[in-house]
This record gives sequence, C-alpha cells and structure tokens, in this order.
Amino acid sequence: MPTVADNLVAVRKRISAACSRVGRCTDSVELIAVSKTISAELIREAYTAGQTRFGESRQQEASVKIAELPAALSWHFIGRVQRNKVRKLLPVFDVIHAIDSLRLATYTAELAAELGLFPKVFLQVNVAGEAAKGGFEPASLRSEMEELLDLPRIEILGFMTLPPATADAGDARPWFARMRELRDSLEREFGVCLPSLSMGMSGDYEVAIEEGATHVRVGSAIFGSRAYHVEGELG
Ligand SMILES: *Cc1c(COP(=O)(O)O)cnc(C)c1O
Repeated sequence: MPTVADNLVAVRKRISAACSRVGRCTDSVELIAVSKTISAELIREAYTAGQTRFGESRQQEASVKIAELPAALSWHFIGRVQRNKVRKLLPVFDVIHAIDSLRLATYTAELAAELGLFPKVFLQVNVAGEAAKGGFEPASLRSEMEELLDLPRIEILGFMTLPPATADAGDARPWFARMRELRDSLEREFGVCLPSLSMGMSGDYEVAIEEGATHVRVGSAIFGSRAYHVEGELG
C-alpha cells in the first residue's frame, strides 16, 4: 500500500505534468489536501511530507483536529457554509471556498468587521445550473457582482465550482472551461482582478489545471477512499 507521502509525491508530479502541458508554472497551482473524515494522525503524516494546506467541510469535525495539530497548517473550508457556523469558521479558516449567495457574503462581511478579520473567499458558481447544487447561477452572479465587489472586509479571490459528476474526467473539461470564460468576462466587465479558480478533485484535477484551476481540492488520491459520506459535503 502506498503511504500518504508516496501519494503526495505522485499527485505533485501529476500537477507539474498538467502545468507543463499547458505552459503554466507549477507554482501557479495550490494543492489543498482534503482531510474530511481523516484522522489528525494521517494529517500530521501529510504535513511531515511537506503538505501545509488542508481542506475540511464540517466545522465541528475540523475544530477538534485543528486543535490537535501544529499552528503552521493552513485550513481551507470547502463545505457548504451554514449561516450559524460563520462566526466559528472565520477565526480558524484562512480561505472559505463556497460562499453561495449575496446574503451569505453580506453576512460574512458584517461578521468579519465585528471580529476584526479580512477573510479570503471564493464565490461558488453552479456552472451547469443543476437543481440540486448550491452556488450562484451565472446570470445572477453577473447581476449581483457589483454589490459583491462593494462588500468591505472580504477579499474575493475568484470562483469555485463543482461540475456535474461524470464517468470520465475529460467530460468535465467543458464546465471548467466555462467557469474560466465566465471569470474572464466578469473581470473585463467589472474591471477587476479575480485571479483564482478553485476547481478539480481527485478524479479530474489534471483536466481542471489544464483549464486554469489555481486551487485543486484533492482528498482520496492522497488519503485513500473515505469510509462514509460527510454531512456538509457539497454536490
Ligand atoms: C470531498 C471534497 C473534495 C475531495 O474529493 P476527492 O474526490 O476525495 O478528491 C473536493 N471538494 C469538495 C467540495 C469536497 O467536498
């Protein structure tokens, strides 16, 4: 059985290869090791192998592990954001990946002011307009963009998306491309810089990188398959 350290080496190699296929430098992609359901012990093993960014999708589960681990680790919240958890998330997580409405963004900005913080966030986009999925529909994102950009305290890094589940990673490519094109057009339209795209998981991160991902959220390819479904997981 390969160890977590072996898996990290393999994933980093694949990230480099995907970057060189499209002429990007490897440094332009941040690997987030998704550690939901994974023990603090295994997370420590990944940290020892040089991994510093970790992704969690449940506030309660994460807070227990974060308390046990070195402060040098950086935590990304990748799950669905419940309004009543934002107060607990902000002081602990460096980046929140799934702000899915103007209302939630506004509330997050208010709390950030109250807590004296400047959180970094991604806006989640439902690129395929799937009924079961959260996130901004592309049209409402455009109509609410002005208000989103005007919010104080929160730094919008860019967009996060989860394309429809497909059997073959290549089938996700058009959705990743659509996310990048939407980002490019919003940048031009609003004269802003939204440099980051959080997209790609274990099954499709290489394709996502070829289409412009800057943050890939990889769990099972690093830690092995998870035994159970996690509450708060997206899509
Ligand atoms: C669980 C999860 C991942 C990682 O999934 P893997 O297929 O194990 O890589 C990525 N993003 C989100 C939002 C998740 O909930």
